[in-house]
Formats: sequence, structure tokens, C-alpha cells
Amino acid sequence: MWLKIIFVGIVLVLLYRLFGGKIPFLDRPEKKEEEHEFGQIEATSECAACGTYMTEEDALIYQKKAYCSSECLNKVKK
Ligand SMILES: [Zn+2]
Repeated sequence: MWLKIIFVGIVLVLLYRLFGGKIPFLDRPEKKEEEHEFGQIEATSECAACGTYMTEEDALIYQKKAYCSSECLNKVKK
């Protein structure tokens, strides 16, 4: 009995390697979570004027520094 179980386990591992980690049911959810986590870390910046954290989509870049709003940007410009 144990030999059969071990044999089936080896076959499953070999099949997994043949697919190269491209089994849709197993891999898609994990990859989405990883990308989401990295995206959150990379997309967060601190306002150089008031210190507020915001996403890079909301950030205004001026002279290589990020600002949360045009108000903070105008404070630095003046
Ligand atoms: Zn600000």
C-alpha cells in the first residue's frame, strides 16, 4: 500500500514539473496575491511637504520629489 502511495506522489510531482508551475487552478491565485503585495509597496510614497502617504497614482512629482496635492506643491514652489 505505501509503495503505491509513494509512487502516486512521485507521479504527481513529475506532472507538476512538466507543467512548469502553469497549472491554472493552483498558480493563478498565488501570483495575483504576490503582484498585489508588491504593487502596494511600490505605489506608496510620502509627501515631501506634509508627510502624507499616498499612492503613486495620486502623487504629483516635482523635482524628483512626490507631493500629495497641488497645495503642497505650491508651498514648495513659492
Ligand atoms: Zn502634502
